[in-house]
Amino acid sequence: RRPLEVRGQIVPVELRVGISRPDPRCGSAMERISRARRALALASAGHPVRIHDRTVEAQLHLRHLVSDDLPRLLRDNLSAIYQPILDLRDNEVVGAEALMRIDHPSLGRLSPAIVLPLLDDTLQLELTRRMIGHAMATAVEWSARAADVRHVSVNLPPEQLAREELLWMIDDAAIATGADPDMLVLEVLETGIASPTPDSAVRNGLRRRGVRLAVDDFGTGYSTLEQMARVDADMLKVDRHLTAQIGLDEPDATAAAMAVHIGRSRGLPVIAEGVEHAEQLEGLRWLRCRYAQGWFIARPESQEALLQR
Ligand code: C2E
Ligand code: CA
Ligand code: CA
Repeated sequence: RRPLEVRGQIVPVELRVGISRPDPRCGSAMERISRARRALALASAGHPVRIHDRTVEAQLHLRHLVSDDLPRLLRDNLSAIYQPILDLRDNEVVGAEALMRIDHPSLGRLSPAIVLPLLDDTLQLELTRRMIGHAMATAVEWSARAADVRHVSVNLPPEQLAREELLWMIDDAAIATGADPDMLVLEVLETGIASPTPDSAVRNGLRRRGVRLAVDDFGTGYSTLEQMARVDADMLKVDRHLTAQIGLDEPDATAAAMAVHIGRSRGLPVIAEGVEHAEQLEGLRWLRCRYAQGWFIARPESQEALLQR
């Protein structure tokens, strides 16, 4: 994905792929091609390869239903829910991850899997702006009630780490809510942080403001071990598929253990995502992983529920 230089001009390159699998129920070659095209229509910068399945059809149908309305839905019907993050040393909730939802008047609550592929770059940025606003407002109210609270995190696509607007958004939200930006954590997929390196002006701007960068889904990207060990971040979030491998038998032998070790050796806080069973929590304690998040600890919940904690 490195940009090409053509006669002195920089040309960004992007590859997207739509795939349709052989299917005995799908007889004609034309229909196969058309399925691949429909899958391609939903491929995005974040998920450049899309395989045709029933969700593709459902999403295209939804896109048709909501796409004209998206700017208005983002403005009027967006909400944030929060999934608590537990400190395993003292079992206190010390942070939360903000997750977007859209309450559609007739389709009900729409999850990110449905909405995110429908957003163009402008709307993606608008979503980030709104979520930073929600997260910082929540951080202020929450820290006024609970002294232990240290951060609220927001997800964003890696490309946005090159957008200077990100810094203005944070400043605006800090002024509007009175929150200190050092309560904000930005979660970005490993791919966004490993290569290409994020725009240094933005990265420095975040650092100056005390905004931390977390690698989301750590351990699932295509980085080599060496790249993983060097990643420029303040926090690691171990992907739930890695957490899922932890049982009581040999927690030390799992990829999750490796991810925890990388974090510990770099002095970075590690959060294990997707904890669904008591055994995983025990395994993580045994590995001396500091933080955990997942359904076993708490499902994502409303702002009110979070503030009651
Ligand atoms: P993520 O960053 O990995 O967020 C965690 C997802 O895992 C959430 O799904 C959460 O509900 C789910 N989860 C939490 N605990 C467990 C568990 O124990 N087991 C399992 N199986 N799942 C668990 P959700 O809310 O559907 O979000 C999906 C993804 O959408 C997120 O994945 C994140 O990448 C993206 N996303 C969510 N909100 C935003 C947003 O405001 N902006 C952007 N750009 N992306 C967002
Ligand atoms: Ca995340
Ligand atoms: Ca994640």
